[in-house]
Amino acid sequence: MTGPSTPDAALESYLVSTQERRLGRYLDFLRIPSISTLPEHAADCRAAAEWLAAALEIAGLEHVEVSETGGHPIVYADWLRAEGAPTVVAYGHYDVQPVDPLDEWTAPPFEPTVVDGRVRARGASDDKGNVAILLQAAEALLATRSALPVNLRFVFEGEEESSSEHLEPWLVANRERLAGDVAIVSDVGFFDGNVPAITVGLRGMMYAQIDVAGPFQDVHSGQYGGTIANPADALATIIAALKGPDGRILVPAFYDDVVALADEDRAAFAALEFDEEAYRSSLGVPTLVGEVGFTTLERRGGRPTLDVNGIWGGFQGVGAKTIIPGRAHAKVSCRLVADQDPQRIFDGLKAYIAQVAPPGVTVEVSLLGTGDPSRTAIDHPATQAAARALEAIFGRPPVYIREGGSIPFVATFEGTLGLPVVLLGFVPPDGNFHAPNEWMDLDNFERGIRAMARYWDELAAAGA
Ligand SMILES: [Zn+2]
Repeated sequence: MTGPSTPDAALESYLVSTQERRLGRYLDFLRIPSISTLPEHAADCRAAAEWLAAALEIAGLEHVEVSETGGHPIVYADWLRAEGAPTVVAYGHYDVQPVDPLDEWTAPPFEPTVVDGRVRARGASDDKGNVAILLQAAEALLATRSALPVNLRFVFEGEEESSSEHLEPWLVANRERLAGDVAIVSDVGFFDGNVPAITVGLRGMMYAQIDVAGPFQDVHSGQYGGTIANPADALATIIAALKGPDGRILVPAFYDDVVALADEDRAAFAALEFDEEAYRSSLGVPTLVGEVGFTTLERRGGRPTLDVNGIWGGFQGVGAKTIIPGRAHAKVSCRLVADQDPQRIFDGLKAYIAQVAPPGVTVEVSLLGTGDPSRTAIDHPATQAAARALEAIFGRPPVYIREGGSIPFVATFEGTLGLPVVLLGFVPPDGNFHAPNEWMDLDNFERGIRAMARYWDELAAAGA
């Protein structure tokens, strides 16, 4: 596979000569307190969207639009003059998390400071750092070449930190103008130790509640004990039936749609530097346990799970109260992997619980939420183009990671828009996202701009 062979000298000298001004623009962006979840910051979210739209205009992007969603707006912009070249849809978000506890910040969260090569501010990494990288990469290419190597569509959301409620309907409604060949979701970062990384999998989610009912109310355990089923006992029986001692989930057909880990997936997990003992002791647990036949990292990123998230019922107070509870409840969730379907998993769980529930109680299982898993093959041309770009700029090949967590809308890019998704971001893994003293590494920031520009060159060269 051929890539761009010589480094782009004009691009490099532009980036060097504009570094101070570009940093200033990034800091301006960070000064806008666009906390999406707090209603009192709605005007700030709009201000951030408008700031971003203006910056995209200045950069030379076209069809710039602050698009209404019913919530915080989505900023759209494109540049579609690379005839015959692939089209890239790039995603980031301009909203940020709340800042409390404020007294743990060493400087006010929306007054960015630059100390020891680190930009400290709320949003410095999640996700305004990645958004500024996308923006400045496009700006630098347009300034030095008057063209981009690929067709580009930017989608910048303002509700990622508060549920992404309006994103999916917006993506569906704008399906036509989001036509493309690959989506870059830039809301991730590097691996432990700031190792360049490409995220190739995210887990999905199925969340359910189990309600077990016995007598119409709590009753005296002396008067009635031994004659009726106890809902708390019944709930324990049900939960105990969900998993085997080998960590396997016993719901029939649960694993039917799981894409087995290929040799290269397992090799990618094995290549990650991971200190199992440090992980164990950081959690304060006596030993790590999980599904037999898989490593800890495979269990965390590449395999599905089922967990009780909460369990309650009956007497919870101090001292003794002799009752048979009328009700018992549990919240249960599954992290899912490709190609598991959350609705099918729920249906299977519900049917299995009906089967294993003991007599004498009535059981209801209800669905509280779903999110689809996603996966992009390591050997996909778009993944490999990103790998070449990272290696060219950061001097080492990336590792491939699978996140245990979920970004449900990634599956929308895959499913609804039919795009392969490459999750590529440049923030340091210990950047205190969602926490006090969030920071971004300035070296990652500068190299991230170069790597993103290089990635688009690589995609153009690969034709995909
Ligand atoms: Zn984010």
